[in-house]
Amino acid sequence: MDYSNNIYFELFQNQQKHQFIIGKTDYYYRISILNKLQHAIEHTYRSDIKDALHKDLGKPKLESELTEIYAIISDIKYAKTHLYKWMRKQKVATPITMLGSSSYYKFESKGVCLIISPWNFPFNLTFGPLVSAIAAGNTAIVKPSEMTPHSSALMARMISEVFKENHVALVQGEVNTSTELLKLPFNHIFFTGSPQVGKIVMEAASQHLASVTLELGGKSPVVIDKTAHIDRAAKKIVWGKYLNAGQICICPDYALVDESIKSLFISACKKWLKHYFTEHPKDSKSYGRIVTSKHFKRLKSHLDNAKQGNANIEVGGQLDEDLKYIEPTIVSDLKDDASLLNEEIFGPILPIVTYKTLKEAIDYINTKERPLALYIYSKNKVNVNTIIETTRAGGTCINNNIIHYTNHNLPFGGVNNSGIGKSHGFFGFEAFSNKRAIVKQRTFGIIELLFPPYTSLKEKIAKATIKWF
Ligand code: NAD
Repeated sequence: MDYSNNIYFELFQNQQKHQFIIGKTDYYYRISILNKLQHAIEHTYRSDIKDALHKDLGKPKLESELTEIYAIISDIKYAKTHLYKWMRKQKVATPITMLGSSSYYKFESKGVCLIISPWNFPFNLTFGPLVSAIAAGNTAIVKPSEMTPHSSALMARMISEVFKENHVALVQGEVNTSTELLKLPFNHIFFTGSPQVGKIVMEAASQHLASVTLELGGKSPVVIDKTAHIDRAAKKIVWGKYLNAGQICICPDYALVDESIKSLFISACKKWLKHYFTEHPKDSKSYGRIVTSKHFKRLKSHLDNAKQGNANIEVGGQLDEDLKYIEPTIVSDLKDDASLLNEEIFGPILPIVTYKTLKEAIDYINTKERPLALYIYSKNKVNVNTIIETTRAGGTCINNNIIHYTNHNLPFGGVNNSGIGKSHGFFGFEAFSNKRAIVKQRTFGIIELLFPPYTSLKEKIAKATIKWF
């Protein structure tokens, strides 16, 4: 196919030519690159990162330290600790029928990769996959979100300082930039974003049969049964829901609450909201803003829709369009067709849905797409196991939320509508690697005894082999 009209083709081609040089790099080279990236994030650009995030998302600086800087540094440190082991040949047993040979597989780089990232954690969700891509020996073109321009511009500067363009390059731009990039025959595409755009990415990847990792979103439920410690549940749910002003793919999207504890749960949430953000969250330095006016309007229309359906605004509901501020809000008594119950919210509004029996709660979850995360607050082991066994989700925390993301020993990702493939730690390295199977014939192989011409003796050997080995 002729790609010469594609404005990114030259960049792509340079990386394509360089891919085997990068793919052949040893452990020490990859560690040196990871160290350079770590130094840029941890030292040279640490305060610029926090400034950019404040400009783009009004992100409190401590939140940026924890959810962006710490998150990437710990990714890098984990990769550095384990990379030697990951890069080693993985020896496997060889069956007796292959006597005379040995077998292993190795993780080799996929080649030229495309990483497309969203705006909600611009640094974390761009550098996170990049760490896996370079640890696995790939070249990469990175396309961050246009919604967070200060962060994207800073990442472009950082990447051009740390990497040569034929190894890693960052391209800034809007949808048309992604569209052009997606036409090129990448070997792997790592996309983080919405399920709607995930489908576009997968369709484009299918033209070249590029492998994909799709880290998507959706509606992640939190179930609170009547045995749960209500105050502790509210403490963690309120933290998880309103962190980054609710703009987190794994924050609890809606709460499924046993109807007998609904009012106790709402009172506990009110208490923790006041504790975290005071009576005036608008003035709190611990509370963020909505990323763009477009997203502010989207969230406002959810609230308007809820009000039209006579829902109850239990907490919050104040908005300020100029500041892109939405007060932490809890809504109950929504109609089944309310937009808050049918679209991913991705903002600081928590709808409460009550249930009478656990089966009702499980059925409700299973009427919707499979979520990225499903959280359970309960002291009843049977209830916990029943929920886990009769639903499917990318990840689950029991009596907590969000924190499974931070354990690098766990795979992170969704299932079906919430994602395909896994990332983090070894699973990220694996996503960016081709597992190549290698058999080495050392001496005469007994399988040669069965080569043609076929005789009755060979037939007997074949039958004995099938029977005994
Ligand atoms: P998005 O899908 O709108 O955009 C993501 C990226 O895709 C951006 O870089 C954007 O420029 C690009 N893009 C947008 N439209 C495109 C198109 N038509 N063709 C090609 N590229 C296109 O997502 P967003 O608004 O940036 O982020 C919010 C979504 O991302 C939510 O659904 C959230 O749940 C999800 N998310 C998932 C994870 C995860 O790890 N699973 C993390 C963060 C966000």
